[in-house]
Amino acid sequence: MLSLGSNLPPRNHWLDLALATFGEEKGQLLAVTPRWNTAAIGTVPQPDFLNQLVLVEGPRQGWDWLALAQALEARAGRRRGIAHGPRTLDVDVILIGGEVWESAELTVPHPALLQRPYLLRGVADLVPDWVLPGDGRALAKVAQNLLVGSWSDSFRTTAAED
Ligand code: ADP
Ligand code: MG
Repeated sequence: MLSLGSNLPPRNHWLDLALATFGEEKGQLLAVTPRWNTAAIGTVPQPDFLNQLVLVEGPRQGWDWLALAQALEARAGRRRGIAHGPRTLDVDVILIGGEVWESAELTVPHPALLQRPYLLRGVADLVPDWVLPGDGRALAKVAQNLLVGSWSDSFRTTAAED
């Protein structure tokens, strides 16, 4: 499960480019969420992101998923300038089945999974039955408990032209 994000125009184009690459990179695209507009999080003021989660299947080990994510970013011409600054395309590894990876280069489940409502919404929509590693509950259940009140209002589905 990967997340795609862009906050430099044309945002839809960068996400389209990533989706088009999966077939070529031998990863089969199984399911996608809608695209959501989300406010940037953190200390650097920057435009809103367009985010989408994608479920991809392929013969990969953990590190290969990170390599794929970085290859997609490179293809979108991402420059690593300001840390956590605006980017054409950010691809993060959110979940790899039930695997746990704990290093600075690869942390899975993604550390923000339970902090960002759209990530939780996305995994609950695409893989509701997967069990959250280290937790034991299905993602649908985890999301049901956390996605309440203002949390569920903090991102919105975008129109195609956004
Ligand atoms: P961020 O996504 O946090 O805004 P970057 O995309 O610049 O920032 O990623 C910074 C580093 O995070 C990368 O060098 C990568 O090795 C590391 N990283 C650790 N875990 C993950 C993960 N699950 N998905 C993507 N990158 C990760
Ligand atoms: Mg990233």
